[in-house]
Amino acid sequence: MKKLSIQTNSTRRIQIKEVRRTFGNGRKVSLFTLGTMRALASEAQMYAVLKEACLAGINHIETAPAYGPAESFLGKALERLRKTGLQPKGGWVITSKLLPGVGLHEGKQQLKSILKRIGIKRVDNLAVHGLNRADHLDWAIKGDGADLFQWAKDKGLIGQIGFSSHGSFSLIEEAIESNRFKFCSLHLHLLDSKRLPLAKLALQKEMGVMAISPADKGGRLQEPSKTLIKDCAPISPLELAYRFLLAEGISTLTLGASIPEDLNLAKKLARAEEPLQEIEKRSIQNLHEASRERLGNTACEQCQACLPCPNNVPIPNILSLRNLLIGHHLEAFTKERYNLIGRAGHWWESINASACEKCGECIPRCPYNLPIPKLLEETHAKLVDSPRRRLWG
Ligand code: SF4
Ligand code: SF4
Repeated sequence: MKKLSIQTNSTRRIQIKEVRRTFGNGRKVSLFTLGTMRALASEAQMYAVLKEACLAGINHIETAPAYGPAESFLGKALERLRKTGLQPKGGWVITSKLLPGVGLHEGKQQLKSILKRIGIKRVDNLAVHGLNRADHLDWAIKGDGADLFQWAKDKGLIGQIGFSSHGSFSLIEEAIESNRFKFCSLHLHLLDSKRLPLAKLALQKEMGVMAISPADKGGRLQEPSKTLIKDCAPISPLELAYRFLLAEGISTLTLGASIPEDLNLAKKLARAEEPLQEIEKRSIQNLHEASRERLGNTACEQCQACLPCPNNVPIPNILSLRNLLIGHHLEAFTKERYNLIGRAGHWWESINASACEKCGECIPRCPYNLPIPKLLEETHAKLVDSPRRRLWG
């Protein structure tokens, strides 16, 4: 652990201990990554969170053209911060992303625009933004995406290539096993850890692994239910989730700050990379035991054995929401996720539980003897609501 000296060009010098983790073949990154998708109101807002991120020991920023004005605001905020002299040691590490499917020429233009907006000559990490379908993987490893990445590397415009994915387990596994990527961004959560084996596989292959929004997408843990607070006590659900992932070796956790105060916990945990302490282990055990008790023998173990459904009902994902609703009383979060089904393109499921025609094909496949059609019907009745929209796109 080295000492990080953050210096301003005035009189201020801040000494904090630097903790950086290996991230693929690229430059090392802080335990937390500043996500830029929640600071879209103004350049001043982006500046405020960027400055606070630096003071919190963060050196890694994640952005994307799909986040509206994020890259332009970021470019201006970086320039303004540079003038104050406030910088992480070694400078910022920047990750941006390109949506899959674009042609080679268009992709080149998009990459040049990214660099221009952020005001840099080279982006450290470029990810396929939402490698969610098989054709996206094809694009990246043998289509125009592959040619684009090679061109960008030859020109020195990018460091390493990775992907973010909301896709199926098997697709992500195939992407990792392709050995074409040096990092990945995945949904990894304390309350839903089914993708953790993929993260471990990626780490074994010396890829960097970034957890996508463990707070918001992990159950909106910044606004936890009373039940969740009680089950995690004496540690807050969000802190426990962060510590769980860091102790599992996840390279870095994204945190989409909209105000500087959103970074308080990142500041507190900027060096918290040690194994879980006994008190943390006990809280995690309590949490899981309490959830088990509420779910009784209706917990879906996420084994996927019930698939495929002839009506394409995504049984495990719907029952995962049920696990969160019954097990942790995350009503607002699960309602929001359920009602996004069919309204978020390839970023989330397109068919909800109402498509179940009770054919019964899935029932004998479930090793836990779950009454799947009945659970789906109940879940739909509890969660269906008015339509919601994604934050972006
Ligand atoms: S019972 Fe419903 S969920 Fe199960 S296979 Fe049939 S349609 Fe699909
Ligand atoms: S087979 Fe049963 S336990 Fe496994 S994912 Fe399907 S419903 Fe859940």
